[in-house]
Amino acid sequence: MSTFFWSVPKENVKNLNKHAIIDLIRFTPNGISRVELARELNLTRAAITSIINDLQAMGIVDEVEGQIRSGRKPIVLEINPHRGYVVGMDMGATHVTMLLANYAAHVVKDVEWTIDIDDGPQKIISQIDEHLHQMLMEMNLRMEEIKAICLGVPGPVVLRGGMVSEPPIMPGWDKFPIESYIQSLWDVPVTLGNDAELGAIGEWAYGAGRGEENLAYVKVGRGIGAGMLLDGQIYHGADGSAGEIGHITIDENGPLCSCGNRGCLEAMAGGNAVAKRAVELVKKGQRTELSTIRPVDSIQSKDVIAAACNGDLVAQQILSETGAHLGTAIAGLVNLFNPSMIIIGGGVSQIGDLLLEPIRQTVQKRSLRMASKRLRISTALLGRRSSAMGAVVQALSLILHQEIEN
Ligand SMILES: [Zn+2]
Repeated sequence: MSTFFWSVPKENVKNLNKHAIIDLIRFTPNGISRVELARELNLTRAAITSIINDLQAMGIVDEVEGQIRSGRKPIVLEINPHRGYVVGMDMGATHVTMLLANYAAHVVKDVEWTIDIDDGPQKIISQIDEHLHQMLMEMNLRMEEIKAICLGVPGPVVLRGGMVSEPPIMPGWDKFPIESYIQSLWDVPVTLGNDAELGAIGEWAYGAGRGEENLAYVKVGRGIGAGMLLDGQIYHGADGSAGEIGHITIDENGPLCSCGNRGCLEAMAGGNAVAKRAVELVKKGQRTELSTIRPVDSIQSKDVIAAACNGDLVAQQILSETGAHLGTAIAGLVNLFNPSMIIIGGGVSQIGDLLLEPIRQTVQKRSLRMASKRLRISTALLGRRSSAMGAVVQALSLILHQEIEN
């Protein structure tokens, strides 16, 4: 395992082993001991002892008893949880999830509220500001105790720019300096991430993708995006817009998409497409409980999910078609990148096999056997929290790797 989710150029680093040790301590399930660290990094016990002594003196690392069921408990290393807190946030088109976590990435408080992303940056950021201060007050914490903040956004993030660029589902946010704006508001180190990339990081660190070197996290909500971990590193692409799987063409003559093209995956399988299909079928007079829930034109994707879970056949049919469209795009991703794992996250994914089975079948049918023979497709273990947990991981990466360089 060699993944560093931090942005310091490696050539500027004084002691690379120290950074590697920090990440091995953070991401090894059930902890790692000094002996295991020496083995993993091919270093002598003396070299490990010297670095660990340093990290202990700085108050960053502690030694504790590891978790095993029986026998003598091994002594493993952990990040000192009492050193401070970070905030990880995930902003979607219609909600914000905010997690307060300690340095060991344990979530101590979470808040979620609904938004309309079309309200634009100033209004949404002032809501975030209010919720953040409310949360700090409830936890009896001061702003100075928050050491870093990461915000996930549902659009392509400009690398080193701290803003989004031409995001199809966030009009009004284009080129707004999100990172520097909130940094000046709170006077805390801030980092911005794409929500699907953060989902991949969250699931890799603490979810379904632990230990995987090549995985894709596909977030299905109103928008559809993918975060790709390739050879143990998040792949951003040349400008930061890699993974926009929602705008892969599924049907050249299909419905109009928010990006201006026709027949994109998002226009055929995103939350709005699911709702639109339901409205269409109700208006055609199909027998479904969707016709009784609310006025036909205001049916939402969550109504379709609820009806499908109740056994409504029309709703199930819509989700099965949705899964097949997703599977078609994912088969392309599998042929291109040969991941060992695909994790489906976001609101629509919570229904599990009703969506997963058509995805699995379509991927199997449409991808090369060589590319998919070891492939596993599963739902996000962290559920709706994958991206917010990824934001916690990224905020901790920012501050921990900064602190050990000082
Ligand atoms: Zn599109």
